[in-house]
Amino acid sequence: EPGVATAMRGGALETLHRVFGYDAFRGEQETIIDHVVDGGDAVVLMPTGGGKSLCYQIPALVRPGAGVVISPLIALMQDQVDALRALGVRAGFMNSTQDFDERRTVEAEFLAGELDVIYLAPERLRLDSTLDLLSRGRISVFAIDEAHCVAQWGHDFRPDYLALSVLGRRWPDVPRIALTATATHATHQEITQRLGMPDAKHFVASFDRPNIQYRIVPKADPKKQLLTFLKQEHEGDAGIVYCLSRKSVEATAEFLSRNGIEAVPYHAGLDAGTRAAHQSRFLREEGLVVCATIAFGMGIDKPDVRFVAHLDLPKSVEGYYQETGRAGRDGIASTAWMAYGLQDVVQQRKLINMGEGDEAFRRRAGSHLDAMLALCETAQCRRSQLLMYFGQEPQTASCGNCDTCLSPPETWDGTVAAQKILSTVVRLDRERRQKFGAGQVIDILMGKRTAKVIQFDHDQLSVFGIGEDLSEAEWRGVVRQLLAQGLIAVEGEYGTLVLTEDSGSVLGRQREVWLRKEAPRPATSRSASRD
Ligand code: ADP
Ligand code: ZN
Repeated sequence: EPGVATAMRGGALETLHRVFGYDAFRGEQETIIDHVVDGGDAVVLMPTGGGKSLCYQIPALVRPGAGVVISPLIALMQDQVDALRALGVRAGFMNSTQDFDERRTVEAEFLAGELDVIYLAPERLRLDSTLDLLSRGRISVFAIDEAHCVAQWGHDFRPDYLALSVLGRRWPDVPRIALTATATHATHQEITQRLGMPDAKHFVASFDRPNIQYRIVPKADPKKQLLTFLKQEHEGDAGIVYCLSRKSVEATAEFLSRNGIEAVPYHAGLDAGTRAAHQSRFLREEGLVVCATIAFGMGIDKPDVRFVAHLDLPKSVEGYYQETGRAGRDGIASTAWMAYGLQDVVQQRKLINMGEGDEAFRRRAGSHLDAMLALCETAQCRRSQLLMYFGQEPQTASCGNCDTCLSPPETWDGTVAAQKILSTVVRLDRERRQKFGAGQVIDILMGKRTAKVIQFDHDQLSVFGIGEDLSEAEWRGVVRQLLAQGLIAVEGEYGTLVLTEDSGSVLGRQREVWLRKEAPRPATSRSASRD
């Protein structure tokens, strides 16, 4: 029975009760909704699960005309529309997945004033035909979802979003609300500026997700570590495991399934049918694990995701926050778990060095990675570090619900170890023709006569064997932390270790290097310990 919800237009709270069946607004929802209903523009920063949708759906219902929602999540539009229709809201969408007739129907409904909400893909608004169509109907509000996609340096940049500034010029009287779950101060500014919303009121909710426990462990044998974590803490729970490559997505899903944990893969290389089937199983079932690339999850509203695990390092804190934010939307205790190792750092640096983009782009990518590494290596509360990254003051210096708060890491004076590594790099650097990565440096320090050590006479170096006091895993941890602290760097496609501007102060003994002591690792084979 279409139109039940809107047979009569009521106030915001009345609409919340009648259409959505909820008792009360949450957080700042009501203030935001009132502002938009009154015709004001708004920029809303709210963490995932905070309840952004109601902030535009209710104004769309309360104000006359159709609310136009711009969303990049084409794959989810049908679901979103179905969900609204089930509540009696007259909703429709327009995107490239529709045939001519379907689009015609939606257009006719919009023009006849028979829609409360219409979802559009951003690329539609580049078409004059779409703008003309919108001009011929009545619009209550423009909602720009996932608004961080307009930020050129962000991790989800979509050029089509830049065209959205046209909305304010063409419909100055229609309020606009831009929403995102991801925004540093810089992104926030960029949203306001690029969408042309100088007069918008800003609503910034706390980014704290108190029910999520943050943990980052040194990577030894990641699949086994993951299995142990799941068996001990999340047996039978629904969760997402993020991996960087399609290959490791497949391998991880298979490994978990073989070991008694029901898991399916999800990545862009699978056919659409399989992807849709795995996604809908995940949404429907209680205890399914999805192993996925970051292609999975944007806009997925499953309240009872009990854990999000990362087997590879995300490229930025924004990405990490958004991905881990998919856990625990229902407010119940959940875990964000990550295994992270030297190879992650080397690989990401290589990707940046060898990747496309100009110098400025590389520098930005590099500083995103630096912030992510700082979060991984910190001996302080991870939650405080996260909040401060997003420009928010933590309520307390230690949250009591992250690994560093629960078992504060010991630190040790790694100055001598750092000097050993740096002096080896200096000696290798003298052999200009040949470039060497972390593996060779560690083999030399540990006094290993490998074929490659012998080939280059590295057993003749004065530093050969001076690092027998630490294990290989410990050395890898030292190199990783030096990389994170910027006391050493990697270069080129082979991940050659090179000195940085700050290396000199360590070699010259003007500076101490304090390192995080890592929890003892489970015994693993040598190949596994190489990340
Ligand atoms: P976001 O888009 O910010 O990630 P959603 O809008 O999808 O969040 O909302 C997250 C969940 O919270 C949804 O299941 C939604 O129905 C629920 N929700 C939002 N606002 C309220 C409210 N005022 N009362 C009860 N549930 C709410
Ligand atoms: Zn903490």
